[in-house]
Amino acid sequence: MVTMPDSMDECYYFTRRKLVMATGEEGNAVAWVKRVECPQCKKGMLGKPKDAKTGKTKIRSKEYECSACGYIISKEELEPTLICEIQYTCPMCKKTGETEVPYIRKTFMGAPSIIFFCQHCNAKLGITKKMKDFKKGKKKKAPVDVDE
Ligand SMILES: [Zn+2]
Ligand SMILES: [Zn+2]
Repeated sequence: MVTMPDSMDECYYFTRRKLVMATGEEGNAVAWVKRVECPQCKKGMLGKPKDAKTGKTKIRSKEYECSACGYIISKEELEPTLICEIQYTCPMCKKTGETEVPYIRKTFMGAPSIIFFCQHCNAKLGITKKMKDFKKGKKKKAPVDVDE
């Protein structure tokens, strides 16, 4: 069972996406990656470092830093070990489901995506990084992305 975070502050990544197949079928998904504690001190949480001057989080940083001990780990090292939890409605079989996959992006339908498979019909589905194919004149709620 995946559990929806109470707040986006608990996440490195949170997104709502429409899932559109090449053949036009539509579904949707909510996906998130929860923060993890520091493997060094087990007290702080790992997060993107903050700018010393402005106090703002440097979201494009290639590193994660522990809020307690200052331990630093690269994005490349940490992200594949994180779990992306997904709740979805499958565009193919229309059933709802939930799954967990590693937080790794691969190219899917031409865009970097988190790829997963429908547990009912095994359709290959992808959560794209950006709404690339956002149709004009069909605006819905703006997608929310906590990271980049
Ligand atoms: Zn630490
Ligand atoms: Zn399905």
